[in-house]
Amino acid sequence: MYRSRTCGELSLKHQNEMVTLAGWVQSLRDFGKLTFLDLRDRYGITQVVFNTEENENLYQEAHGLNREFVIQVKGEVRERENKNLNNPTGEIEIKAVELTILNPSEIPPFTIIDETDGSEELRLKYRYLDLRRPKMNKLLVGRAKLFSVMRRYLDSRDFLEIETPILIKSTPEGARDFLVPSRIQHGSFYALPQSPQILKQILMVSGADRYYQIVKCFRDEDFRGDRQPEFTQLDCEMSFVEQEDVLTTFEGLVKEVYQEMMGINDIEISRMIYADAIKFYGSDKPDLRFDCKIIEISSHIPNSEFPVFNQAISNGGIVSGIVAPNGAFYTRKQIDAAIDFVKESNRGLQGLVWIRYNEEGWKSSVDKFYTSEQVQEMGKQLGMNKGDLAFLAADKTSKVQKSLGDLRLKLAKENGWIDENKWSILWVMDFPLFEQDEETGETHFVHHPFCMPHQDDIQYLESDPMRVRGQLYDLVINGNEILSGSIRIHQKELQDRIFKILGLSEEEKTDKFGFMLNAFQYGAPPHGGCAFGIDRWLMLMLGGDTIRDVIPFPKASNGKDMMMNAPTYVDNNQLVELGIEVVKKEDDCSTL
Ligand code: ASP
Repeated sequence: MYRSRTCGELSLKHQNEMVTLAGWVQSLRDFGKLTFLDLRDRYGITQVVFNTEENENLYQEAHGLNREFVIQVKGEVRERENKNLNNPTGEIEIKAVELTILNPSEIPPFTIIDETDGSEELRLKYRYLDLRRPKMNKLLVGRAKLFSVMRRYLDSRDFLEIETPILIKSTPEGARDFLVPSRIQHGSFYALPQSPQILKQILMVSGADRYYQIVKCFRDEDFRGDRQPEFTQLDCEMSFVEQEDVLTTFEGLVKEVYQEMMGINDIEISRMIYADAIKFYGSDKPDLRFDCKIIEISSHIPNSEFPVFNQAISNGGIVSGIVAPNGAFYTRKQIDAAIDFVKESNRGLQGLVWIRYNEEGWKSSVDKFYTSEQVQEMGKQLGMNKGDLAFLAADKTSKVQKSLGDLRLKLAKENGWIDENKWSILWVMDFPLFEQDEETGETHFVHHPFCMPHQDDIQYLESDPMRVRGQLYDLVINGNEILSGSIRIHQKELQDRIFKILGLSEEEKTDKFGFMLNAFQYGAPPHGGCAFGIDRWLMLMLGGDTIRDVIPFPKASNGKDMMMNAPTYVDNNQLVELGIEVVKKEDDCSTL
């Protein structure tokens, strides 16, 4: 027997018990006749004392130890003189009588404590040491707990956990596929699933009725932001359901997760239609932990010669604003920073107008064009109070909404408007089914091509596809898209109409989705489902600076596995077997 107890469970009630613990040496402190050792395992840290006066041999052995040695200690539990109430085992210590070194260790390249001195690169290279840190260990435990809560909820509601293959044909999420070459059939490739979308729909044809899977998905996208090329979804599908059935089922799951993981009872989940999210928050994933809506005042602009507002409106655009509460004290520099921010190329505004209302009255950057009364009129329409500052933008509707939506978030972060203890959880619903590529004018699907249009909008499919709403829903948590889903099309005739609008030829249809369309000829039930992005959700619940923190073995921000050193070049023979010749890019090595 290696141990009778763990390093996290002993307390005063175990006093005088003879125990055996095993774990890693966290730290050693030598005080002459006494040596103190902190012993760590997954469950906690327990203090062990070696007394030189009573046992010279033991003392010498303890002196041979070093950080991260794996040891076994036998000893008696006793009350500690200097209690550490920050540690659950801090009221006791083990008076050692026997010590066994199970395995020595090299000196670790960084200290295994929460506030470590290791850079992220180093931590990823030595991930096994990183995961020993209590903070990281907690994240692993939290991840496993989330899986178990989700499984329990779904299992008790007749969902079946069903695996789907990893080597498949391309799926329709629209990102770039990771490909795996076939050795048997040179020039042919499997794709790694961007999600099990088609397979879970086929499972509904097969009568599975309720499916779920905690599954890895792969998307070969650029490493912008906090993304991972492989990530984990809770993927679900249900037969004979309408949108409301799916929403209530997963609202129940979300509530259970918050109760079990965070101890929050009956967390609030609201709903908003996509059109309102864009109009009031400039985003399809609004963060409602703070207020600050975008308010359009286009039809109430006072008469004046101010060309920017007048032109925006005559060109079919809008004038809208947001109010920064207590923003009247913003410095010139802060105002300029906001203006520069909306001018950045992805937002593309020409600038912003500001209105300030303080003890001295109303002031604005367009006082040349508007009387004080007119400025006040605009300020009142925006709902300004004394002490506030408003930013106004005038341009194409989509540009104004996106820019003010982004600015709203930036100001919130910079000025502490976000209550970190609050949760903003809402369904965003009624997304458009299609979007138009601004450059090519082509029609693309918003989610994937199997989403059911809104019953009321099917009539506009051919005449005005952009106004067609889909039975599409996202669950947005604190401004992040955590779930995405839809009711699916199950009738061939409707699916064909959608493919036609997307410009898919007969051949493309057969090549990409032929097997699915075949399956659908044999009695596809009405169905719908969704998928949760587990990694980001965990990060929101458990903390962590990046999504990498909650993934046991993540890729670094450049897509590389630092521990295994992947991707890597392979033996030429392997390439020959696969019938592959590598053409090197000039900047090849430097990108990885
Ligand atoms: N497969 C979809 C996704 O990964 C989710 C769904 O529609 O169920 O976004």
